[in-house]
Amino acid sequence: MDTYDYIIVGAGSAGAAVAHRLSENPANKVLLLEAGAPSNPWSPIPMGGGKLLYNPAANWLYKSEPEASTAGRQLHVARGKLLGGSSAINGNAFVRGQAQDYDHWAQLGNRGWSYADVLPVFKKMESYESGGDDTYRGRGGPIRVTNPDHSDPVFATIIAAAGQVGIRHNPDYNGAKQDGIAMSQATIFKGKRQSTAHCYLDPIRNRSNLRIETFALGESLILEGSRCVGVRYSVRGEKREAGAGREVIVSGGTINSPQLLELSGIGQAERLRALGIEVKHELNGVGENLRDHFAPRTRWGIGTKGITYNDRARGLGMAWQALRYGLTRKGFLSNVAAPLRAFVFSREGLEAPDLLLGWVPMLLELTPKGPIISKQSGMTCYAHPMRPESKGHIHVTSADPGRPPAISFNFLSAPIDAELTVRAVRIAQSVMHAPAMKPFNVTEIAPGQDRRTDAEIIDWVKAAAETTYHPVGTCKMGSDPMAVVDARLRVHGIAGLRVADASIMPTLMSGNTNAPSIMIGEKAAAMILEDAA
Ligand SMILES: Cc1cc2nc3c(=O)[nH]c(=O)nc-3n(C[C@H](O)[C@H](O)[C@H](O)COP(=O)(O)OP(=O)(O)OC[C@H]3O[C@@H](n4cnc5c(N)ncnc54)[C@H](O)[C@@H]3O)c2cc1C
Repeated sequence: MDTYDYIIVGAGSAGAAVAHRLSENPANKVLLLEAGAPSNPWSPIPMGGGKLLYNPAANWLYKSEPEASTAGRQLHVARGKLLGGSSAINGNAFVRGQAQDYDHWAQLGNRGWSYADVLPVFKKMESYESGGDDTYRGRGGPIRVTNPDHSDPVFATIIAAAGQVGIRHNPDYNGAKQDGIAMSQATIFKGKRQSTAHCYLDPIRNRSNLRIETFALGESLILEGSRCVGVRYSVRGEKREAGAGREVIVSGGTINSPQLLELSGIGQAERLRALGIEVKHELNGVGENLRDHFAPRTRWGIGTKGITYNDRARGLGMAWQALRYGLTRKGFLSNVAAPLRAFVFSREGLEAPDLLLGWVPMLLELTPKGPIISKQSGMTCYAHPMRPESKGHIHVTSADPGRPPAISFNFLSAPIDAELTVRAVRIAQSVMHAPAMKPFNVTEIAPGQDRRTDAEIIDWVKAAAETTYHPVGTCKMGSDPMAVVDARLRVHGIAGLRVADASIMPTLMSGNTNAPSIMIGEKAAAMILEDAA
């Protein structure tokens, strides 16, 4: 059995950052295990993410359990399965969340996670050269963040429409204040996706103290009493083991991290016993506290020609876009998936916005093979509460590491989530019906004029909404009985074991989850090194 100082399971947004920082010191021998492939040709192309959404070569392709809140549908739960993890297939929007999100985590008892604590980490990890205030923005970090192409007039029109319904223009939602409408900041540089594989791993491939193994599925943790001493894994079916002299860091993401703990006998005793898994350590929070953004996509017909990508990126239009991208790295294929977003207040008197709207200047049809650009010209605007209170869970259904866990979201179980979802949809409607939109000859396709009451809108949400692929919380950080890790991300009751990824978030923060996951990876590495000193 090979032995390392540190073994990291999962090379995603967080895991790649952990591996980069731990291996900076040549004295640390580090093994990074990744279940997926080293790369995929669609990944570096920003809009290539659409080609990976339903692609088993780069995606775990999970499905949620059917439930009442989804009108019995099973939702597609996309998760990146390659170096870079979900950062290598995502929509490239770069959003940190609000100061209040992190202050709330600290208030819950998580010392070291207030906004004042995490701001330096956010600054350290990014290189943002498109503006912003140095108090809030970093200039020399590994992740390149840029403002995408602003030249398309469609965005200026929507910004003007938002202004007419009281939503201000705020060019830097990652700065002092989040509220307002803005072009999405993006993990895209010179037309290329800035995944954590590209930014954190590519530059350090030649470090002799770092071994990166791909197609390596972590199957269980090796525990000696209450200490984790290594990992059992398989590479294309061949069983292997590696020892960890110092620590194992689980960074498999919100679906897979609790799965790995449960497969290793860490979790709810009754549940594990029923599956024939030997209970090594009872920890009731493992797999609980699942949260995600349940986001209805409002759909709009655009009667004026040439405005949307339905007119400009289908057939010959797509051939032109591909040529343009190939020659200049510009145009449709270099875009962030939702180029425009608004952080808005559901009502007056709130300290910070609680709803998110995101615009995609085209209509898409979801097919079993993935999204295709619709023949009809139009726009999509998703609209949802940012800090949902409904909680679901993820649990293994078998002792077989190859079997997907059961994912139950339990969306809309907290009444406030339904109320705020309706409010978000109504604000999207008010923007799209604002006078500035008139030249576009807008018609409402969905929810549509025939769905007017709150109950009608919620029925439509249940039948049509998808997530925005932001699951968090299943290895919650905290000190209460349902917490899985403490504020230094150490698994309660097991030495030598941490979790570092989106699963440790106690609550879903206000926005997208890639930047916070990278921050968690950076912060985890800093704490691990501090604790080893
Ligand atoms: C389609 C899509 C679009 C998104 N769009 C955006 C966006 O525009 N902006 C944004 O901020 N966020 C977006 N997100 C969310 C964001 O990308 C994720 O929240 C973030 O990447 C999660 O980071 P993580 O480190 O927790 O997990 P991941 O990045 O998912 O990494 C987990 C890694 O661990 C590996 N792994 C899992 N289990 C094992 C195992 N047992 N053994 C070995 N390896 C394992 C996985 O293959 C994966 O590489 C999107 C996500 C998806 C899927």
